[in-house]
Amino acid sequence: MSQMSQLTIEEKQTIYNLLKTASQNVYGYTPDAFKNEKLPEQIPVKTVTPEPEHISPAEPVQTETPISEITTSTPIPSGVSVGVSMGELILKIARCTRCPLARTRTNVVPGTGSRTPEVLVIGDGPGSPEDNSGLSFTGPAGDLMDKMLYAIKLNRKTNCFLTNAVKCAPPQNRDPYPEETEACAGFIEAQIKCLKPKMILCTGRIAALTLLKNNKEINLSLPVDQLRGKWYDFNSIPVLITYNPSEVLKNPDLKRPVWDDLRTFAAKLKELSPSYAQSFGQ
Ligand code: SF4
Repeated sequence: MSQMSQLTIEEKQTIYNLLKTASQNVYGYTPDAFKNEKLPEQIPVKTVTPEPEHISPAEPVQTETPISEITTSTPIPSGVSVGVSMGELILKIARCTRCPLARTRTNVVPGTGSRTPEVLVIGDGPGSPEDNSGLSFTGPAGDLMDKMLYAIKLNRKTNCFLTNAVKCAPPQNRDPYPEETEACAGFIEAQIKCLKPKMILCTGRIAALTLLKNNKEINLSLPVDQLRGKWYDFNSIPVLITYNPSEVLKNPDLKRPVWDDLRTFAAKLKELSPSYAQSFGQ
């Protein structure tokens, strides 16, 4: 039995409060979507996937952070405004019941990768492999995503973070419904504030729609082939849209346009962060 599990509820609460205070000191930000929100006294969660600084896509790593232990058993005082360290976001996502996907998920899928990324990749939604593992972009589409990123010297272990427009897998691998992406959009906002990526790659139309819904310069009713290849802006962060790797697996003809998009993306990233590739492979 771990030392953490031997602690009393009060001791866990004290540790949680310390972690929360430290995180707020680091990040100093509470997203609008979560301001004034009261946490329920105690909600059991199915599972939480704790994440260390860097996570191997193949090896879900148990972290020494006590967040995972606290989330499953510690009551949090009502009226606490949750800050947005990544640990707290995972806690918040794990307890989220804002949309019906909470009832059908096996695991929440908060995101995977470096906590200090150059790039944030946003997909449409988790599928079955992600629902089972709790990690973003796993299975064949995840393997292809890693190859795509590797080709432009991005790596989820070192300089890239991957997440989705919704943090719970829709049943039967269907696309997320608009009300589900709307309910979940605050988490993307918070993750961007936490992670501070220099650029964002949206893989799929739903990801783009979720992120850029307030951008008047984009017609989000268009298909990806008419949205890709152009630069968009989210809070002064350049955004590029390309195809979802699962679409590329179904239609190999999309490999060429995806590669063109990746080269465009990498060229811009090199302008903004000339040394970005140095952390690749470390
Ligand atoms: Fe909450 Fe998002 Fe999961 Fe819906 S998809 S339950 S909003 S975390």
